[in-house]
Amino acid sequence: MDKLELIKDYAKKLNLYYLNSNITSIIENADTKDVSYQELLLSVLENELALKDKKAQERRLKDAGFPIIKKIDDFDLNFQRSITKKQINRLIEMDWIDRMYNLIFLGPPGVGKTHLSIALGHRAVDMGYRVSFITMDNLMYSLKTQEISRKSKGKISKILSSSLLIIDELGYLPITREEANLFFQLITALHEQASLIITSNKGLEDWTELLGDPALTTAVLDRITYRCELFNMTGKSYRLEHRESLF
Ligand code: ADP
Ligand code: MG
Repeated sequence: MDKLELIKDYAKKLNLYYLNSNITSIIENADTKDVSYQELLLSVLENELALKDKKAQERRLKDAGFPIIKKIDDFDLNFQRSITKKQINRLIEMDWIDRMYNLIFLGPPGVGKTHLSIALGHRAVDMGYRVSFITMDNLMYSLKTQEISRKSKGKISKILSSSLLIIDELGYLPITREEANLFFQLITALHEQASLIITSNKGLEDWTELLGDPALTTAVLDRITYRCELFNMTGKSYRLEHRESLF
């Protein structure tokens, strides 16, 4: 093997993917531009690090499981007036995740609860946090089937190692007593370990009916609202107002 091939081979074994795929151009460039050894090494290591970061970010984004990509910049605060620019600026700093605060977005369909949750989650991924997005339905399914399904087990263990768990659409479908118990156990496991974003079309006062048991609901609410910001999102449905017509 010639030296270039050997470098490529070693780089691959060391997981230095930038070096592995760019060695020819790196050497050519160093020769023609008369780069110093220090500069050369520095540039290789910097590029290697940047590539590692990018790959890790892509993996976190994939792991987060967002059903669609939504951005903060596309959220029209003139349309959704229950949240101020100042609050958004505060939220995108993400220090609420470090301090393990929870966010609850309440309101009727179409007011932007899911959009905001995904946009904040995406931002958190960009900033290096591990995020999981799941609908309440899918969460219940995964919790119930984790003993028999490897996929569900994987999902739950990802959730348990996340810094931010987004539970979308709590309250759309009724849940059983068994499910309410599993939900309580999850909330307990995550309490003071991770932040939550919960979206719901039901007010907190309706959660008892939802979870079926006043004592359980109190315990769940106690944990969730211990450190929590609640946003009552009102107004019209963005979907209905911006309905596109075929004709
Ligand atoms: P919800 O979860 O409250 O039912 P969504 O977040 O799914 O509502 O919003 C419905 C659609 O309207 C989405 O496509 C979303 O991107 C868009 N939308 C909602 N509110 C806004 C807003 N204030 N600015 C821009 N787009 C919005
Ligand atoms: Mg929604």
